[in-house]
Amino acid sequence: MNQPITIALSKGRILKETLPLLAAAGIEPAEDISQSRKLIFDTNHAHIKLLVIRATDVPTYVEYGAADLGVAGKDVLLEHGAKGLYEPLDLEISRCRLMTAGKVGEQVAGRRMKVATKFVNVAKAYYAEQGVQVDIIKLYGAMELAPLMGLADEIVDIVDTGNTLRANGMEPRELIAPISTRLVAGQAATKMKHAQIQPIIERLRQAVEAARTEEVSV
Ligand code: AMP
Repeated sequence: MNQPITIALSKGRILKETLPLLAAAGIEPAEDISQSRKLIFDTNHAHIKLLVIRATDVPTYVEYGAADLGVAGKDVLLEHGAKGLYEPLDLEISRCRLMTAGKVGEQVAGRRMKVATKFVNVAKAYYAEQGVQVDIIKLYGAMELAPLMGLADEIVDIVDTGNTLRANGMEPRELIAPISTRLVAGQAATKMKHAQIQPIIERLRQAVEAARTEEVSV
């Protein structure tokens, strides 16, 4: 008898790239996730279920063992602290960069800098490491607006093409971390459900390698 396995997926942008990888690893939802308002989905394997939840909640579900495996961006894992989580595989999707950014050509001198971000823990650690004292302002979205409206001098945000920054008169500054989507596993699940989890990780590893080879040959 297979023990039940729950995989927590981040909804939104990451989900679209995760589903083809899961399919290549032989795991497919029993119904079209994009056409449903459900949060839990059966799959073509009787013992595997998928949760579709906010990216920032994925590490929490896996940490507490409410999900056995999870798929989340490294940005979310860095901010969460990823206590009690293993990170067995880089899925190499949804690549972007976590960066500082500010208004084009503007420099702050002679006072403490204000930094707006939803990545409060990452930002605190980054500026401390640089020996720069800052006040962090927590925002939940549209970070690019903060410097324009005088709320902050810099932001810490995700940059992909840089178009969002440029469209708002901002420039990327320092790279904090390159980001991609990771597979995470809970410590309890890794011990107790090793026999079920290991083959899933291996099949996903092969799917990632196949996708990489395809990318190179295109
Ligand atoms: P861009 O204009 O291409 O630099 O994209 C920047 C915006 O898209 C950011 O403000 C993010 O909110 C979002 N974004 C881009 N890539 C990702 C990703 N891999 N994961 C999450 N959000 C992303």
